[in-house]
Amino acid sequence: MSLSTTKYTSKLHSARVLILGGTSGIGFCVAEASLEHGAHVCISGSKPSKLSGAISRLQSSYPNLASHVSGHVCDLSQLSSLEANLDALLKFAVGDGKIDHVVFTAGDALKIVPLAEATVESIQQSGTVRFMGSLMLAKLAPTYMSPGPRSSITLTGGSNSHRPIKGWCVVAAWGSGLEGMARGLAVDLAPLRVNLISPGAVYTELFGDIPKERLEGVLQRFKDGSLVGQVGTPENVAEAYLYTMKDQNLTGTVIQSDGGRLLK
Ligand code: NAP
Repeated sequence: MSLSTTKYTSKLHSARVLILGGTSGIGFCVAEASLEHGAHVCISGSKPSKLSGAISRLQSSYPNLASHVSGHVCDLSQLSSLEANLDALLKFAVGDGKIDHVVFTAGDALKIVPLAEATVESIQQSGTVRFMGSLMLAKLAPTYMSPGPRSSITLTGGSNSHRPIKGWCVVAAWGSGLEGMARGLAVDLAPLRVNLISPGAVYTELFGDIPKERLEGVLQRFKDGSLVGQVGTPENVAEAYLYTMKDQNLTGTVIQSDGGRLLK
């Protein structure tokens, strides 16, 4: 057996990584990290201008790897077009080869509706992108992916499922469902691997809707609620996704990257 001095860092070399939600936040950092590991990335989001901006940012950060970056718009917010949009994205991403890893970090702005005011429609809507998007992706993706345990799908949940914030029970319900989904998919799609990352608070564009005057207080509460005394960064949480791609022995697991929030 010949031992390479890059046997760990070269695991993703030339891999094709599709990142739904790769145009900002955690997914964008997964794209950066995948490029640094020699992968080809295809990123996706619902907004064409944000997508082209994200592609440009990646290409200018990694000019030697510009040809490793591609992207395709895919809106997951409508149940009626969900499957068709996902299928079109997968057809684009597969090109003339196979996809090795799929990462799902897509999530629309959270509309927190207390249960007393929730309707069947509002509950269903809050699960469309994250829950239905993940499940239909997992239905369609294996056809486009390299078979076997080298390949993986990584979904995203959140620590709110384990320690719900008051008033967030609908979000906790969908998030807990995603964890069961990941375990079920690991069984159904084996030997393809399926895992889920459960982040705590991570300072990303998702916080963009919080008014400036409230933002400092919100971030301070998240800092106080962690063991590490800081809010998560997408660059750190991205490491968890790299790990699920690289460890061919890992499937059906939930990995928490939450600053120890569950222990505080
Ligand atoms: P983000 O920066 O807002 O990124 C969300 C991504 O999803 C973007 O690429 C966005 O692109 C895409 N997206 C939004 N609506 C979409 C739609 N209708 N169809 C397809 N793509 C869509 O968020 P993030 O902080 O990285 O969060 C990623 C995931 O982690 C989310 O599911 C979030 O709930 C979860 N999470 C985040 C935190 C946190 O504190 N940040 C904590 C726990 C869990 P477009 O805008 O172009 O559509």
